[in-house]
Amino acid sequence: MGEGVGLDHPTQGVHQRSVELARPGRRPSNSRLCSRTGFTLGVAASSTDPIRPFTPTADELVAGNERFAAAFTDHELQVSPTRQMTVVTCMDSRMDIFPLLGLGHGEAHIIRNAGGVITDDVIRSLCLSQRYLGTREIVLVHHTDCGLQLVTEDGLKAEIEAEIGVKPWWAVESFVDPYVDVKQSMRRLQMTPFIPHKEHIRGFVYDVLTGRINEVTLDDA
Ligand code: ZN
Repeated sequence: MGEGVGLDHPTQGVHQRSVELARPGRRPSNSRLCSRTGFTLGVAASSTDPIRPFTPTADELVAGNERFAAAFTDHELQVSPTRQMTVVTCMDSRMDIFPLLGLGHGEAHIIRNAGGVITDDVIRSLCLSQRYLGTREIVLVHHTDCGLQLVTEDGLKAEIEAEIGVKPWWAVESFVDPYVDVKQSMRRLQMTPFIPHKEHIRGFVYDVLTGRINEVTLDDA
């Protein structure tokens, strides 16, 4: 599974800040940054902010993998998820999705992007997941305090266009209320012709302050 570290903002300085703040034990030294999360800070900060010192840490991941591989015992896992389930969720670094949902290695596909939005590429993955790898159940997990709540579709596009001269051709998919956005995602799934199995779709919002998920249904007011 892929673990994101911050909204993929096109501004290098912002991305660097998000990466640094996502590292365990690191705290922002720049007083202009608020105290919540790297994800939030990366979105909120403008590209004119001073760039904080950054040191890449991929080598630490290589060392981490050495420890993982030394204890590895899952070589018999099959490519098809044993729960026949796909989880679509945000890339937020605070969501360690396997323990968060009590999932085990090899049990579910995890599809992640900024917001856990149902985009064409998510539908591509779901299509493959269901048609070729046997999944039959879809679980959506959005969350509170998402970075996409801090930007607007037009605002971010205008900012980028002013900065680099090109307006993004992709949708930002910003939203105000994660509960409403889960419903939007559920409706998109129901409308796409490319996903054959839609009988078992559940939606949730993960509360980053409590660690709990709260279910959302299309019948909710
Ligand atoms: Zn998010």
